[in-house]
Amino acid sequence: MQKALLAWYKAHGRHDLPWRNTKDAYHIYLSEIMLQQTQVKTVLERFYFPFLERFPTLQSIAEAKLDDVLKMWEGLGYYTRAKNLHHTALTCQGILPCSPEELGGLKGIGKSTAHAICVFAYHQSLPILDANVKRVLCRFFGLSTKDEKILWNKAWELLDSVHPYEYNQAMMDLGSMICIPKKPLCSLCPLHVKCKGTNNPERYPLAIKKAKVPTKKRFALILKKEGKFGLIQRQERLLHGLWGFVQVDGLSTDAILLGKVCHAYSHFKVELDVIKTALHVKVDGWFLLEDLNTLALSSVDKKIVALLQKESKK
Ligand code: SF4
Repeated sequence: MQKALLAWYKAHGRHDLPWRNTKDAYHIYLSEIMLQQTQVKTVLERFYFPFLERFPTLQSIAEAKLDDVLKMWEGLGYYTRAKNLHHTALTCQGILPCSPEELGGLKGIGKSTAHAICVFAYHQSLPILDANVKRVLCRFFGLSTKDEKILWNKAWELLDSVHPYEYNQAMMDLGSMICIPKKPLCSLCPLHVKCKGTNNPERYPLAIKKAKVPTKKRFALILKKEGKFGLIQRQERLLHGLWGFVQVDGLSTDAILLGKVCHAYSHFKVELDVIKTALHVKVDGWFLLEDLNTLALSSVDKKIVALLQKESKK
């Protein structure tokens, strides 16, 4: 089975991904963190190279301000990742440790990410358990639930300890190209003969019904003083450290509606009425319209800036 898997990887694997053609632990770590919540195509086309150009080493992140790191992360979402990256760079003083235990003790690096860094940068013999690999293992062993402990045991059981690098890349590629969530391509799969899930693969693991994503209706306040816009630096976990317009749930004063802005996060959607108001609200800084895009802004605040730019041309 391992031979078949390696032969398939040799013929069909994604060998040209840039983080597969380096032994630089920082480059591999960065790709793992970016890929945690973002698709390969997006990371590859828009974020990986510009980020490395601005921050070529982990030390360069340690020497930068968090604001600059967040600015480069803009658009990728899940900004805690950028904050953890900055924290890790400072903690490690620019040099990543090379044991899974030490790596796993750093902020934002879970067990599977720690293993991935050790396997891909240092060729250690460890299994990886990302979302794609979990799906392959559930189907291969006929597991209905994604029990972490059982899955780690199965991951160790299947690991090719002689070729851990190729084995793990193969499992990840198999999960994203062949053993896909819907209608997996079992006839092309090198694990087909021994796979317990092949008769009804979508049964493994059993799908958990997703709750409907709620929509929050709020107001974004456009506060203006002497030609400058008032913004706050966000404190909430989701967008911590990013600049943005003040948002409130309700409004008890007259205001001018400038437009509407919507944005979907993974757990909720937000619909904002963007309003101009003379309310006195404490902000963290005042900025000219042309300077707003130099700040690290969330996607929804970028949409508001675009709206303001459109308004200013009327
Ligand atoms: S045979 Fe089908 S279900 Fe089994 S691992 Fe391969 S693609 Fe997945």
